[in-house]
Amino acid sequence: MTLPNDERVIEAVAPQYNATLIRRVDHTDALAYFWVRFDGEPVPFDPGQYMTIGVFADGKLWQRPYSVASAPREAGEIGYEFYVRHVPIIRFTTLLWRLPVGQSMRMIGPKGRFLLEPADDRTHLFISTGTGIAPFVSMIRQTLADGRPRKTVVLHGCSFVDELGYWEELQTWQQDGTYPVTYVPTISRPDDPRNAGWTGRTGRVEQVVQSVCKNLGLRPDRTVVYICGNPDMILNSESVLMNLGFPEFHVKKELYWPKGKDAALLRG
Ligand SMILES: Cc1cc2nc3c(=O)[nH]c(=O)nc-3n(C[C@H](O)[C@H](O)[C@H](O)COP(=O)(O)OP(=O)(O)OC[C@H]3O[C@@H](n4cnc5c(N)ncnc54)[C@H](O)[C@@H]3O)c2cc1C
Repeated sequence: MTLPNDERVIEAVAPQYNATLIRRVDHTDALAYFWVRFDGEPVPFDPGQYMTIGVFADGKLWQRPYSVASAPREAGEIGYEFYVRHVPIIRFTTLLWRLPVGQSMRMIGPKGRFLLEPADDRTHLFISTGTGIAPFVSMIRQTLADGRPRKTVVLHGCSFVDELGYWEELQTWQQDGTYPVTYVPTISRPDDPRNAGWTGRTGRVEQVVQSVCKNLGLRPDRTVVYICGNPDMILNSESVLMNLGFPEFHVKKELYWPKGKDAALLRG
């Protein structure tokens, strides 16, 4: 990937900084996991909520919201885990990609109402594209740690196989029965050479959601649906679900950017 030349000077120290980037793991050249920890006590959050992280560059605070992927109970040790796509426009992620581990940052939150219902025994259908998988990983990790796993179907769409973040963890949960999850990855560009050898499901999330519901016997009255990520995918999936008879109040949504703001070359 050609990186835009972001020459803004990142400030190492600022009175507003209250957290530190403690770890980074690259998944592809455009996707990475970041762990940010408060310098003081961790702030409690619920799975599905987001934190806003930022740094000063050229005298201006650049900050953006990110869903937390880690479980709340881990925040004091490993910090808050984020799964982020590098957006090649000179805004926040071009700064984030330049930060060294140990960089001081600003982190505020939590915020958000994309939350699990307490003691909900319906089947949970988690639908996402790209980095929109993050809040679902937090939800599964926490309910697993609480010893209260919920019957779950994870439908995750990406353009390329190597973009399926958390693939291994989800596969393991499914295969060894650690969590009652059915993992359904789907690849939207099956003919691309990057996807050579892929024998799994193909098509965009909104194109496969109907068959997934039918094949897995997901009944509108016994299923709660959470959708996260790309706004067009969310609206299209919701419309398929409405046609299948899902009541609107059984569908919860988290949009990562406003509809109509799709940057060229990007898929969410
Ligand atoms: C509640 C909430 C939670 C979010 N959680 C995450 C998260 O966990 N991981 C994450 O990567 N992003 C997440 N985002 C998006 C994030 O806040 C930023 O918008 C994104 O990282 C791009 O920042 P930017 O400053 O570089 O560009 P921005 O000016 O913020 O966005 C420019 C354009 O980039 C595109 N874009 C933004 N986010 C993505 C994305 N994730 N994938 C593909 N294209 C994108 C959109 O077309 C957008 O209009 C979340 C947004 C919201 C509102």
